[in-house]
Amino acid sequence: MPPLIFWRYELSEETELFLGEELAGVTRPGRYLGIEVNAYRKPFRSADVTCVLVYPDAYEIGMSHLGLSILYEEINERDDAMADRAYLPWVDMQESLERRGIRLFGLESRVPLGEFDLVGITLQHELTYANVARVLGLAGIPLTAAERGEGVPLVIGGGPGAFNPEPVAELFDLLVLGEGEEVLHELIDAVKGWKSTERRERGALLRACAAIPGVYVPSLYSVHYRPDGAIESIEAERGAPMPVRKRRLTDLDRWRHPRRPVIPLVEPVHDRCSLEIFRGCTRGCRFCQAGMIYRPVRERAEESLRAWAWELVENTGCDEISLSSLNSADYTRILSLSGGLASEMGEKHVAVSLPSLRTDTFSVELAARLRRVKRTGLTFAPEVASPRLRATVNKVVSDEDLLSAVSAAYREGWRKIKLYFMVGLPGESEEDVEEICALVRRIMREGAHGGPAKGLRLSVSVSTFVPKSHTPLQWARQMSLPEITRRHFILKDGLRMRGVNLRWHTREMSYLEGVLSRGDRRLLPAVLAASRQGCLDSWSEFFSWERWLGALEAAGLDPSWYVERERPRSETLPWDHLHAGVDRDFLWEEYEKAVRGETTPDCRFSECSECGACSPPRAQLRLAGEAAP
Ligand code: SF4
Repeated sequence: MPPLIFWRYELSEETELFLGEELAGVTRPGRYLGIEVNAYRKPFRSADVTCVLVYPDAYEIGMSHLGLSILYEEINERDDAMADRAYLPWVDMQESLERRGIRLFGLESRVPLGEFDLVGITLQHELTYANVARVLGLAGIPLTAAERGEGVPLVIGGGPGAFNPEPVAELFDLLVLGEGEEVLHELIDAVKGWKSTERRERGALLRACAAIPGVYVPSLYSVHYRPDGAIESIEAERGAPMPVRKRRLTDLDRWRHPRRPVIPLVEPVHDRCSLEIFRGCTRGCRFCQAGMIYRPVRERAEESLRAWAWELVENTGCDEISLSSLNSADYTRILSLSGGLASEMGEKHVAVSLPSLRTDTFSVELAARLRRVKRTGLTFAPEVASPRLRATVNKVVSDEDLLSAVSAAYREGWRKIKLYFMVGLPGESEEDVEEICALVRRIMREGAHGGPAKGLRLSVSVSTFVPKSHTPLQWARQMSLPEITRRHFILKDGLRMRGVNLRWHTREMSYLEGVLSRGDRRLLPAVLAASRQGCLDSWSEFFSWERWLGALEAAGLDPSWYVERERPRSETLPWDHLHAGVDRDFLWEEYEKAVRGETTPDCRFSECSECGACSPPRAQLRLAGEAAP
């Protein structure tokens, strides 16, 4: 059978023949074509530094990820470098690659990943850790950094997982902590300089990279354990930074990517353009890692966002622009920005949407402005229902706030509303869970201005609290599987009512997430074993708790030791050598306040709590309209 896709690449005959013969037999072949509109398709051989950016999950998920599309443009705008893309192939394509002996390749160049200089893999979620090993295996790249010699790419990690990458740290030659736009250019320059030298020694390159602020080279750090299993100490080799401090941009208006995002050939999970309106969030929810590691708040200027939005529409033909951030209603000029964009773009039938709403009437006012073009669904995240737990997690939203928000949404014509709740929080009792049921029932009863909300459908989505590194609750215990099961059944019994659809995250998946989120280097053999056995944990059909239990047991590890144990303040945590900007002492004070039920205000609207993210306090906080220094 002749190749189905003809695209002229000097290195791709073998891969093109493979694609021609295999594509028709796999699901969604568009995932593997690499001929999307706005793809750069830069020549491989003429670039001084070649990079491939990998999302270790399916194409549809990876194509919705803003971070990789930012870095993809940043690199490809350089004359001396090129960036290709790769995603974890679906299982049928994985089987084809292995059967035919074809190594995983970059989508656009069709060059095997092992021939690039840099392979950048984003760690968005712990449940993709086994996928990372799978990507490396399919690419034929030695799995651990220690096994890699000359001529093998540098494998680089990034994303939120880089703030505790320890369970998979040894898969990476280096990881980038924090925002990648600047540091990635510094890394490319370092590799370019190294390639031009006569004696290329991999160790020398790694040491040079370790000197770049924000770069963590795991092989330069050794971890020592106590007989009880906790960490005794983490030692850095001479010259390696201790701690490694995260990178962050100060003036976001100087960084405006993506402007020409690649248009997917297969419908992605989020089929819209993202306009990133600010970074950081200082609401201070104590379970939220993103709210801590991306501090401080840095808003982009409104005028610049408007111009950027039009560029996105012109370059992609998209019919929806999402104003993305950690909490878009918090953008200080959100009414003006969203209203202005909605009225300008409405004429072109382009919808403006917010990824989620704050739980208040102000947010519904916003939603009302935006519905002019397209009535997208509304989502609120009250997280908990009891006042005590609201103080614990520092998310002070009253029942009345939620009710008036739902009422206003109902009045404006929305009939489908999604609510996010969380169970398993520290100090949570079964009565607290029953309060979720009571609150949902009250919404159904009074959601329409004090009267029954006829026709209202509530989708109640329940996640399990998983303590994350660099958060105030990083010392807390996570609940056991039986405790979470009881909570789920309370919800199931309490929410048996017409119009309410209850969903919860698979308990075992959350438990595994808990093992890995606060895990250490001893977990790597289990990750590799689970990957070899076919665990692709982000997909429930390929998640197997039994296989994971077997892999953990074979590695001599007890998952409950990682998950269900509260840590003392004095214990060295596996990520203590990595600094996310917020000081450990601040996090501990916040943990104690959580236990006492005290709240901490948002520093945007009150005084600075001296979390450590700004130096001096407030110096890096940027609100729209403020001039950069
Ligand atoms: S240092 Fe102060 S102003 Fe800066 S993010 Fe922390 S609390 Fe906010």
